[in-house]
Amino acid sequence: MAHGQAELKRLSEDEARSLLEAIRWPNGPVCPFCSSTQFVNLKSRAGLRHCKECRKQYTVTVGTVMERSRVKMWQWVYVFAAMAASKKGISSHQLSRELGVQYKTAYFMCQRARYAMCHGPDLPKLSGTLEMDETYVGGKPRNPGEVREKMPVVVLLERGGRARGLVTCDVTANTLRKHVTTNADMSSRFMTDESPLYKTTGKKFAGGHETVTHSQREYARGDAHSNTAESYFSLLKRGVYGTYHHVSPEHLHLYVAEFDFKWNFRKVTDTERAHEVMRMVEGKRLYYRTPKAIQAGK
Ligand SMILES: [Zn+2]
Repeated sequence: MAHGQAELKRLSEDEARSLLEAIRWPNGPVCPFCSSTQFVNLKSRAGLRHCKECRKQYTVTVGTVMERSRVKMWQWVYVFAAMAASKKGISSHQLSRELGVQYKTAYFMCQRARYAMCHGPDLPKLSGTLEMDETYVGGKPRNPGEVREKMPVVVLLERGGRARGLVTCDVTANTLRKHVTTNADMSSRFMTDESPLYKTTGKKFAGGHETVTHSQREYARGDAHSNTAESYFSLLKRGVYGTYHHVSPEHLHLYVAEFDFKWNFRKVTDTERAHEVMRMVEGKRLYYRTPKAIQAGK
């Protein structure tokens, strides 16, 4: 079970299946349809089980982002490991070469891995000293003269802690307020730039609202700064522009989820981060089909 980062990319099909099973089912297989732990191993295919309660058949991929794909399990583990380890993101072209699969397949796997990295609802609120900032991402034209749409991305993050990025349709006081009320513990200290958009929301923080006036080059007055939010954005942009070259507006939220995930797990080893992705593959199948709904639900 103790695979290093490099070994995760060299697993046999059986080893990859065992690893995924051990991570998804630490206490033994659980039926994804009825949650029963009563099963029989079927001999027709490795990893195939028959549920004694609901009588359905399942493998470790049922109910996960890996479901109904012809991709091998070792290839999934490879992609999870490669994506978890890359600081700036990894391109589907590179993965396609490394895995010997078509670009289309590699792209599909990367998008599924990003879905796995999306967090679910009901997360613990962010607290302490919080920074919030907004920027515009995407839309680098591939050909001269081509116009591409940039999308607003808002980030709320804990200084020295977790981050929640959000792709939005607009940058209004209302949109920013919603992101704050969903994600912030209101006893926190709140740090933003001097934008009037944060004024009303800022007043609700028991820890106070401090602003930095970028226009006057007052970047850091004491510890009133939003430098953490700025590093978050520079990392995100380096990935979007440097590695992915182009991200369409409708897929940008997946890249933001990938960067949030890496930011939030930056203090663990690459192997632990890869295991975390494998832990998050469950229950994402529905999300994959309704990305718009998740966005709207935020
Ligand atoms: Zn069952």
